[in-house]
Amino acid sequence: MSKKRLYGDANSKSASRNVGGWIKDLDRARQSGPFLEAHPMDAMGMSTKAVHAGTHDDARTGAVGTPIYQTSTFILHEETYESIEEGFGRDRFIYTRYGNPSQWAVQEKLASLEGAESALVFSSGMAAISAAVLAMVDVGAHVVAASDLYGGTYNLFNQEFPSLGMSATLIDSYDIEAIEAAILPNTQILYFETITNPVLKVVDIPALVDIARRHNLRLIVDSTFAPPPVMKPLELGVDLVVHSASKYLNGHSDLIAGAVCGSRKLIDMIWPRLLNYGGQLDPHAAFLLERGLKTLDIRMKAHEKSATALAEFLETHPAVDKVVYPMLPSHPDHARAKELMKMGTGNVTFFVKGGDQAALKLMDHLHLPKQATSLGGIESLISLPFNSSQSTMTSRQRADIGIHTGCVRLSVGIEDADDLIADFDQALNAIYQMKGAA
Ligand SMILES: *Cc1c(COP(=O)(O)O)cnc(C)c1O
Repeated sequence: MSKKRLYGDANSKSASRNVGGWIKDLDRARQSGPFLEAHPMDAMGMSTKAVHAGTHDDARTGAVGTPIYQTSTFILHEETYESIEEGFGRDRFIYTRYGNPSQWAVQEKLASLEGAESALVFSSGMAAISAAVLAMVDVGAHVVAASDLYGGTYNLFNQEFPSLGMSATLIDSYDIEAIEAAILPNTQILYFETITNPVLKVVDIPALVDIARRHNLRLIVDSTFAPPPVMKPLELGVDLVVHSASKYLNGHSDLIAGAVCGSRKLIDMIWPRLLNYGGQLDPHAAFLLERGLKTLDIRMKAHEKSATALAEFLETHPAVDKVVYPMLPSHPDHARAKELMKMGTGNVTFFVKGGDQAALKLMDHLHLPKQATSLGGIESLISLPFNSSQSTMTSRQRADIGIHTGCVRLSVGIEDADDLIADFDQALNAIYQMKGAA
């Protein structure tokens, strides 16, 4: 009985390797990722991949689905000692901060869904973003990034970067010319979000890919708002995709996690950062994320269906000034959305008449959506940027990035569209009548 079988044999070429001789072998061919089992699923559909890729049944008992490997460490054997010596630490189980089969299962599933060679999971989206960014820059580096970044990423560039001897220039992601003009001799990466928050700009990723190629820069995109059923940025030529898996990927608002997907070469450069900064995903959370991912495709279809119906309804309501949903013809990027997005998501932003005070009243009259930040869960969540996600900005700064008074951020869950429409109808009517009386 060989213990090796439990770990799979996708990487068991090491027997023929010269122990300790790895330094002469640096151009060695690598497997596309450390995989437990080969899952040749490239030709399969999104839901098939979501269910099967990476997931493996328990070899010992036949239990269906990946067991939770709730362990900090692994018994060392000849093969592990060999890989440690050869510098293949990422390909074997040694210690859970380095890698764990519960993490690998999710990594392989995500790589399959994103069409990536390799992936890493992290304890949060910010752990993934900071490790990916810092692995791609040297001291003295400069980054060109979007001006309306997620707050945590904005703080990484504005608060952490200066103390690390690095700098960032933030540019409106619509302004492709200004982005190119901001590139300096020490610029190393471009960092953008595929769909921005909360004004849901659909960013011209192919144009950014073109700039990155011409200037020999790496392009990292945060695609939290456009998970793989919606967009696959690696297919568009992006170098690395990062996600807050706390949102659509997990989809149930019950854990915090992050992920990075890309080529094996780049992911191998990020892995030491995961080790050094320590943001590894706990095996139990990895299990929950793996389970959440299995329904990613059907959840996205349900989000799109309810969000489209609700967005169309909101557009017709007299208490609503404007609705922002990329799949509606009224969206300024509708043509690009049709080109780059395979489907819509659950994110709808709208502006009510009567400003932020009316928006506050609206939230109080709603029964179904919960007042909370975050997005991508099966339950609808509603929040106002002015007193939550963008509360530290002045109203002028908010207006500059399109967040005018009365702005409502809505993450439509998978509730039935009719129920959501009825709820918004009664709540909007209540504030509209109030306004009419005033
Ligand atoms: C939530 C979010 C993050 C941060 O993710 P955490 O899992 O909360 O660390 C990063 N980017 C975007 C676009 C997000 O929405």
